[in-house]
Amino acid sequence: MLPELIINTDALSYNSQKVSELCHKNNVRLVAVTKVLCGNPKIAAIYLENGADVIGDSRIRNIIKMKESGIKGPFMLIRIPMFEEIPLVVKYVDVVLVSELDMVKEISKHAFNLRKKQKILYMVDVGDLREGVWYTKACQEIYQASKFPFVELYGIGTNLGCYGGVIPDEKRMNILVDIADQLEKKGIKVNVISGGNTSAIYLMEKDQLPPEINEYRIGEAIALGTDITNGRSFEFLRQDTFTLKSEVIELKVKPSVPEGKIGKDSMGRTPHFEDKGMRVKAIVALGEQDVASEGLIPMEDGVEILHASSDHMVLDVTECKRKIKIGDKMSFRLKYSALLRAMTSPYVEKNFNSDNGKV
Ligand SMILES: *Cc1c(COP(=O)(O)O)cnc(C)c1O
Repeated sequence: MLPELIINTDALSYNSQKVSELCHKNNVRLVAVTKVLCGNPKIAAIYLENGADVIGDSRIRNIIKMKESGIKGPFMLIRIPMFEEIPLVVKYVDVVLVSELDMVKEISKHAFNLRKKQKILYMVDVGDLREGVWYTKACQEIYQASKFPFVELYGIGTNLGCYGGVIPDEKRMNILVDIADQLEKKGIKVNVISGGNTSAIYLMEKDQLPPEINEYRIGEAIALGTDITNGRSFEFLRQDTFTLKSEVIELKVKPSVPEGKIGKDSMGRTPHFEDKGMRVKAIVALGEQDVASEGLIPMEDGVEILHASSDHMVLDVTECKRKIKIGDKMSFRLKYSALLRAMTSPYVEKNFNSDNGKV
């Protein structure tokens, strides 16, 4: 059924191999992040078979789904949990990201019930303003966290480039290294410093990564071969990992500017129009329920995405070389936002394929 998302297993294997080679060359463990893939077990298996050391996901439900599908892990929960998730966290998760002492206390209590020590990765905010204890207060708070009886401080970590769009550099990374040093002086061993995500890969490429940083959590680069924060595609990775397909359901010549008084569109956006005269417009059976339209890239030259509402996507195909007809399929590449929506949308059928058309 359309819309269909075609997942290229060879391209994903390739990216996973290349990213893990780069990490391992730098003595960095690779946590391959599956949150943009709705925790798809088949893709997690590809990642683990191709060099990933750990699978990271932001949703406990995804981790449970992967485990129940036979994926061995180990698993890291990369969103700091809610209280109600703690019983599941201690049951299913190997390492959990945390940033609050009250949460660690609760985790310790539940871990005691299962007679285990729960590994925690304490997050430090070194400037991006998303999760983590602000770095000037980190040492004391993490010291306290490490003292709860049924938790084990697996390491410390940071996340950059997500909220503030802060680009990771050596200076931000060295803040983490300093905190680990201070903790070690107080007798707390910090085995793992989990420094980066996709936006920090360039530090490994340029040999600028402080050697103490020994773990990266990477999603986007493996899944898409891109790095939104730094606005680039990786030359050493493939970008043809996913293709979205749907069908043309209307094809008409219409003006480029609407007639009548213009308000907001169905998503509350104010549309803008450029008068290019009469144009050939195709409506494709795709919409915001399937995909984030601003994150789609048409695969054919001369095709422009004009607009999408919940279920209709309007394309300008005037300049397209192919003579498009009703019933034709149109294909698109996906940026991060589009992939996230397509993977999580129940309307989009997911199918696996390889370079030679077989799985
Ligand atoms: C999403 C996420 C990552 C992975 O980020 P990418 O940019 O996809 O590589 C790493 N760590 C945390 C905490 C995340 O939420």
